[in-house]
Order: sequence, then structure tokens, then C-alpha cells
Amino acid sequence: MQEFDTITAIASPLGTGGVGVIRISGPQSFEIINKIFSKNNLTAGKIAHGNIVDNGIILDEVIVLPFKKPHSFTGEDVIEIHCHGGLNVVKNVLDAVLKNGARMAQKGEFTKRAFLNKKLDLTQAEAIADLIHSKTADFAKHSARNLSGVLGAETASVRKDIFDVLSKIIAGTDFPEDVKEPEYEYLTSEFEKIIKRIDKILSFANSSNIMRQGIKIAVTGRPNVGKSSLFNALLNVNRAIVTDIAGTTRDVLTETLDWDIPITLIDTAGIREGQEVGKIEEIGIEFSKQSAENADLVLFLYDASAGMTEQDKMILNSIKNKPHIIIANKADITAQRDNNDAIYISALYKDGLDELKTMIKNKVYNFSTENTEFVTNHRQQDCLEKAKESMLLALEASKRCELQDLISIDLKSALLYLDELTGEVITDEILNNIFDNFCIGK
Ligand code: GDP
Repeated sequence: MQEFDTITAIASPLGTGGVGVIRISGPQSFEIINKIFSKNNLTAGKIAHGNIVDNGIILDEVIVLPFKKPHSFTGEDVIEIHCHGGLNVVKNVLDAVLKNGARMAQKGEFTKRAFLNKKLDLTQAEAIADLIHSKTADFAKHSARNLSGVLGAETASVRKDIFDVLSKIIAGTDFPEDVKEPEYEYLTSEFEKIIKRIDKILSFANSSNIMRQGIKIAVTGRPNVGKSSLFNALLNVNRAIVTDIAGTTRDVLTETLDWDIPITLIDTAGIREGQEVGKIEEIGIEFSKQSAENADLVLFLYDASAGMTEQDKMILNSIKNKPHIIIANKADITAQRDNNDAIYISALYKDGLDELKTMIKNKVYNFSTENTEFVTNHRQQDCLEKAKESMLLALEASKRCELQDLISIDLKSALLYLDELTGEVITDEILNNIFDNFCIGK
């Protein structure tokens, strides 16, 4: 276990709330709390109730949770002070802790210590950041699974399979008199199994990325075809954050939905009537193009009662290379159903919206995030891809019955990539990069 100095930070969100939590971690934790707490003789694992006192002045009535190393989140001596959740109360208590010998923690420093003290592997540390920052309830659940070590355990198990084969190869090559080299047939079948297991984790990469980053959907079309109406109808399902971003020529409205995955709707309905017709067309098409460029999916609307006009066709043409859905709106005022490429809806009466939502979901991801067994991030996917490449080389070599000494090199490199994934082997640069994404107090 490594020794560090003693750090502290406010672990709860800044603001007014029921409880504010200040965390202290490091060798001086108990010494510091003994200086500022009205009770002494703290016992690890036993909650204590008393006052935080600074220079004879009572700062707050608190509950103190003492943890002795290694039985704490960071693996060090840890004190948690639960005080009343007012911003200034929390700050006063923090100041008292700082004055008595602790240093302000950096971003993610508590979790980094937990990792360095082997309380967590890197996948679990990353899961903490995911959990805190998750934009949807679903992603939070998946992150919590990783926090419990699902990804780390699977990686370790794949690693063990590789290690077992490698051991057999090394035994055979180092002690040829005593141990027979494994059969190539055996190697080939083992390698195939291992690659399958890596592939399985990687098969959820796409859904992981979508869950993590979300999807941008743009609603586009001529003025008055019902874009805003559709936008609002979709938002009524589950409204989230509202932002109004002023564009240069008009307002672009974006809102975030949680449909198991974060979806950002961009309403391009800023094209107002009253502008010169030529201009409207020009701006409209330019606008559609712009929003389409940034969007993962475009919902193109036209007025079913007017049929597809030349203007509609121009706009549609400008987005046709993007994933899109053609929507014939205002189906309530016309019986026309002649466009087989379009879905007929009424944004006003909310008719056909369920079918549209299903179409959107199918278009953007033809999987259910529920079934995402392993959530990974780009860094982890990169490690898995590289481990797989090494295993593919080993597989090819085994099929060609190459020297097993050479095959062992590929296996060792696969092991290294898996170790990088769980953080067994990691550079400072990668580590700092990961913990930079944390907040202070984590
Ligand atoms: P936008 O300019 O494309 O955003 O269109 P709006 O959503 O502002 O709608 C323009 C007009 O069409 C409004 O008067 C809406 O009430 C009307 N409208 C929108 N959707 C429908 C629909 O499904 N049926 C009917 N009958 N009218 C609609």
C-alpha cells in the first residue's frame, strides 16, 4: 500500500440540502478530526455524534463516520463528516479540516487512491465517473453493474484463459524433456474460444457508445408543416432539460429526452414566413443541411394535405444521404396515403406517434439497451480490439503450426492489453486523463 498525504473535499453537491458531506482521507484523518470534534476516542465503523468546534466556536452539530485502513473506500484512514447541508456550514467545516492539516483534494483523487490501493480496478473507477455523469436512468444501472466489477471480472476471466494456455506453451518449450508441447489443434480451439469471448464484450460497444453519448435527432421541413407541433408532441412523452440557444439568424431549440438513451431533439422550425420566398427557400435548405450534418437522424416533415411540393423535394434531397424518416404530417385533414416511403401522422392529434417512436428507435439502434451485457468506453474498447488482434495473430500462427515460442509472444501482448484495460499496467498519462473527468470530492 502506498502512503500519501491527507486530503479533504466536500463530497456532496454544493448547495442547500439535507446533508452535506466532507470527506477526509489519509494518515492524519483521525488526528485532524480529534482536533475539531467534541468527542474523542472514535472507533472505526462506529458512528459518533457531536459538534465540530473551531477555536471554541461550534460550527455545526454533526455525525462522524470513521473508517480505519484498509477498510475504507480509498483503502486509507477515512473520516466522513455529515453536517447540515447549507453551503456555508459545509464550507466552514471544510475550512476547519484544512486549517488542521489536510490538503484540498484534486479531481477524482479519492477514487484514484482507491485504485492505487487496489480497492477498485480501473473499470470500476471509470464506472464511478459514468454513474455520476449518467444522463439516463438506464445508463446509471449499467454503470452500477460495472462498478460491481462485471466488466473487470469478465476481463480477468478471459485473461486467465489466455494465461493458462500460455503457461502450457511455456512449460512445453522450457522443459521439452518433461512436458509435451500442447497440440496445435488444442491451441486453435482455445484461441477461437477466447476470441469469441472478446468479441462478445465488443459486440456491446455500439450500444455502450449510444447509451453514453446519446443521439441527435433533427426535425426539419418547410415552414408550417408541423415541425414544432411534432417536437412538442415528442417532448410531452418525457420532458427533460430545456435550453434556448440563440442562433445567428434564428433560434434553434434543443431539448433532451430520456428514452432509455439520451436523445437530443433539434427543432429547425425557425424559418419564419414573411421573408422573401427565394430567401426562405435558400435559408431553409441551408438550415436543413446544417442541422442534418450535426444530427444522427433527420425527421423530415411535409404537409400530407398539400402533398410533396418542389420545396419539400429540395429539402429532402439535401438530407437524403443521412439516416432519415419521411413523415407526412396533418394526416387528419386528408385521406391521401399515396407515399409508401412516408409514415402518416397527425402531430396535432398525436396520431401515429407511437409508431413513429418505434421507427425512430429501430432506425437508430436495432438493439435493446436492456440487453447490453457489458458497457465499455472507448479506452476499454481500444484495449479489447488490440487484445483481439494479438489473439488473431496467435490463431493464424497456430493454424500454420508455427513455433510455439513465437505464438507465446502474441499471447503475452494480448495479456498486456487486457491488463491495460483493468489498470494492472497503466501509464500515468492515461491515469491522469481518466481521473481528470471526475469531480472534486470523488
Ligand atoms: P412548423 O412551422 O413546421 O413548426 O409548424 P407548426 O408546428 O408551427 O404548425 C403550423 C400549423 O399547422 C399550426 O397551426 C399547427 O396547429 C398546424 N398543425 C401542425 N400539425 C398538424 C396536424 O397534424 N394536423 C393539423 N390539422 N394541423 C397541424
